[in-house]
Amino acid sequence: MRRLVLVLLLWVLGGVFPAQAGELKCLSPQGEIWVQPGEILHLEVQGMPGVPALLRLPDGTGIGLFEWEPGRFRGAVLPNRSGTLEVEQAGQVCPLGPVLLLERELPVLEVVREQAPCRSGPDSAFDRLDPLPEGLRSLVSARLNGWLRLEPAGGWVHLESVRLHPVAPSRPILQRVELEEPGDGSARLTMRLGDPAAWRVQAEPELGRLVLWLPGAGQATGHVRQVSHPQRVPLVRLEPSESGVRVILGLGRAGLWGYRLRWQSPDLVLTLAPPPDLPQPDQDTRPLEGLVVALDPGHGGDDSGAIGRDGRRESEVNLEVALALRRLLERAGARVAMTRETDRSVAEPGVPAAEELEARVLRAEQAQAHLFLSIHHNAKASVAEGRVAHGTDIYYYHPQSRELAASLAAPLARAVQESRHAFLWRSFHVIRQTGMPAVLVEVNYLSNPTLEARTRLHGYADQAAGGLYRGLLDFLKAPGDSEGRVRFSESASTRGEACP
Ligand SMILES: [Zn+2]
Repeated sequence: MRRLVLVLLLWVLGGVFPAQAGELKCLSPQGEIWVQPGEILHLEVQGMPGVPALLRLPDGTGIGLFEWEPGRFRGAVLPNRSGTLEVEQAGQVCPLGPVLLLERELPVLEVVREQAPCRSGPDSAFDRLDPLPEGLRSLVSARLNGWLRLEPAGGWVHLESVRLHPVAPSRPILQRVELEEPGDGSARLTMRLGDPAAWRVQAEPELGRLVLWLPGAGQATGHVRQVSHPQRVPLVRLEPSESGVRVILGLGRAGLWGYRLRWQSPDLVLTLAPPPDLPQPDQDTRPLEGLVVALDPGHGGDDSGAIGRDGRRESEVNLEVALALRRLLERAGARVAMTRETDRSVAEPGVPAAEELEARVLRAEQAQAHLFLSIHHNAKASVAEGRVAHGTDIYYYHPQSRELAASLAAPLARAVQESRHAFLWRSFHVIRQTGMPAVLVEVNYLSNPTLEARTRLHGYADQAAGGLYRGLLDFLKAPGDSEGRVRFSESASTRGEACP
């Protein structure tokens, strides 16, 4: 995994820092490098084509670099001591580093902003993981390009979210665990930890459980206080280990509908969302009575999203499909919360993109929606590729959303006469920050002129909405039943440049 991360980084940075032909330039990594003994460091430099380039290690030994394309050299090295790495070519030298080999005590960082972003690799191109609470102090096991890797939690945080601190890391201790079920189908687990903790969630809906890992935490209690007779979470088990504590929640019949985790000092609070209380299928002609659905037509206002070659704006098509879906859902008895109903932004115009996306999440949360669908149309960065690209892609982030994505993909593709469909994991803001099953739907490619023309046909929005509606009914009929439905029609590598 670590090697993969470093290799990916080369690709990312290789494109960002082009150098003049002939000039020797160290491209990656940039700035201070911290690695642990035994950890391979991948590097990339640009220099004169066809001229040998040599990497000089701090102990003086040299390693020849591999020229993988004219003038681009790569190497992998196990730093054997702290110092400076240098690359030499025909009398020119470029320094890398300095390299600090983390042989003894690991450095400590402290998170200095609320909900600090944490990513799966040392670059903002990597997926976001659960955010880090302000005040968290953690050991650091690597530093690359201004990103620090947390130990033992894993994940990378940027230097701008932390300060490097000379004192010991936090030692969160699980002192009290309390489970409350107010009777509306929700549940709240309060974990008193004292010091801020990082967390990782491993949801296993198919096993009917949710596992919360608190890396680095200790445990002072094995007792879980239950305020009422628990139905939503009949079982809570605490498992201490050297690397931290695992809190295992056995979920009742409602399964895992959705969850939220918040650091509310000195507690970590997990809330499980209540599933909708729907009528029995044969008892009512309005099958979705009691269901609240948030519909989010992607983009709007100054942000058109993708634009087809013939000028069709994605924000406009997305809205048409969402409004058509609202009609179907309301006819079936559901309540629909739209993030926007006209061609405008949801937050104040001109705010940063993250705020605009957060405004959409807030709408859904305020409406206490049971489901969230963000509706988009796709495009590719490359015009040539975009012209022929096609396919229905549904993105999910949280495990509880996977089944929803799976249920929507095929019916939607069928409804818009599309042969390829897939559901894929991806970390987009609106599906990551929402606490209910949430998906981002890319109906098809607007960058493909044939498909763009199709979006102008009378009835297109109704067809797409009809497909989504049928998929929703399938999902609601068999929550948690993934047998026979989980399939990819193509691999994730075919995905488009989906909207954030
Ligand atoms: Zn979009």
